[in-house]
Amino acid sequence: MDAEQLRENAHKMVDFIADYYQSIESFPVLSQVQPGYLRELVPDSAPHLPESLEQVLQDVKEKILPGVTHWQSPNYFAYYPSNSSIAGFMGEMLSAGLNIVGFSWNTSPAATELEMIVMDWLGRLLNLPDDFLSKGQGGGVIQGTASEAILVVLLAARDKVQTKMGKRTLEKLVVYTSDQTHSALKKACQIAGIFPENFRVIETDASTNYALSPGMLEEAVSHDVSSGLVPFFFCATLGTTSSTAVDPLATLGEIAKKYELWFHIDAAYAGCACICPEYRPYLDGVEEADSFNMNAHKWFLTNFDCSALWVKDRNALIQSLSTNPEYLENKASQANLVVDYKDWQIPLGRRFRSLKLWMVLRLYGVANLQQYFRNHIDLAKHFDGLVRGDSNFEVVTPRIFSLVCFRLAPQNSDEDLRNQLNRGLLDAVNSTGKIFISHTVLSGKYVLRFAVGAPLTEERHVSEAWEVIQLEASVILGKVSN
Ligand code: PLP
Repeated sequence: MDAEQLRENAHKMVDFIADYYQSIESFPVLSQVQPGYLRELVPDSAPHLPESLEQVLQDVKEKILPGVTHWQSPNYFAYYPSNSSIAGFMGEMLSAGLNIVGFSWNTSPAATELEMIVMDWLGRLLNLPDDFLSKGQGGGVIQGTASEAILVVLLAARDKVQTKMGKRTLEKLVVYTSDQTHSALKKACQIAGIFPENFRVIETDASTNYALSPGMLEEAVSHDVSSGLVPFFFCATLGTTSSTAVDPLATLGEIAKKYELWFHIDAAYAGCACICPEYRPYLDGVEEADSFNMNAHKWFLTNFDCSALWVKDRNALIQSLSTNPEYLENKASQANLVVDYKDWQIPLGRRFRSLKLWMVLRLYGVANLQQYFRNHIDLAKHFDGLVRGDSNFEVVTPRIFSLVCFRLAPQNSDEDLRNQLNRGLLDAVNSTGKIFISHTVLSGKYVLRFAVGAPLTEERHVSEAWEVIQLEASVILGKVSN
């Protein structure tokens, strides 16, 4: 690494990225390329001799950017946001620059210690009970994704119950979830060897706005107990992926406690907003949880990847995930003086991800972050109002955070036609390249999702997006009536 070469090249790269952000609105938000497009544009093998950065950047412009979907565009309203920010970006740069691999404390003490501190900061901002903070038996850890967070706590819970009940219980272990829970839990169960027939999916419906009913959970658990099965894990969601439903955590937590289930709360997206006092009540009940995750890389201005996980019993994770080969032995670990995050996660190697979260918290400050979430939620309210003002459309579930679930529902149309219309509308809108929205299905209804949360989005983008949707809808309705 030649420092002067780095300076020169990295300056050019920063200029390139800054230019990208300056022109981001000129690209189709959803990439419009066809599968396999890139094979035809790049050579079959790597160059034998070095090429220049200019040549590579030219190829990025001409060949790569057309195949990029612009998640940071202010006209991006699909799935959930995946924020970038100057602070997050600089944290990533610093992490890439130092390029440490902090699996054990001794491999870079600052990486472990900053992660513990920043996770305590964030835990306090969310007003998590002290049990989740590092001074007691618990603590926070940064995982790559919510999927990894859910997997590691499921493994910890599985091994904890098996230590108590005996290793032969695997076929009896039962996991509970709702039909709105993210598929990450199902994948985690597949990896953890949970028998597919013991994965209980409790149905939800519009009567609870797709939140899980405690009565139904208790019924399922007590039925399994009386059948000789071993209920051991329950995952609730604060802000489901389809519609931001919030499960009633406090009541569900009581049931989990009564039946000694490991209670996990997945708040991947909506947990971010809970640093605002007015949204914190959604998190009431977290006191009863064993673990809680929130993706700072979704809405919290922290560049991907940064998924925050807290546990009350860090030993459960360590029991499940630690290995201590000779080649990693060191005095600090042996003396049990330190946290070795390798024992809290699946891989050994780990990045210095706390830097970017630390930078986000320090360079923006809590007050600005709170304002940031409130602004997006206000923009979603604005969109909600626009939809409600058009009698051809309906809002399908009450908006809570910054997602609006809506659909085209002209009068005198049946459900089949409505589903067909909305499929067509989604395709038409996204094919314009002007905005990108996504969909879900709720109670058999094909629903469009408008998720506000890109850092550059302003009210004008939301209003213009609505115009695009209305225009494409009028074309579709025109064809239907002809
Ligand atoms: N949980 C919820 C509620 C989500 O909305 C998502 C993704 O949108 C996930 C989990 C999965 O997140 P990740 O990609 O970090 O695994």
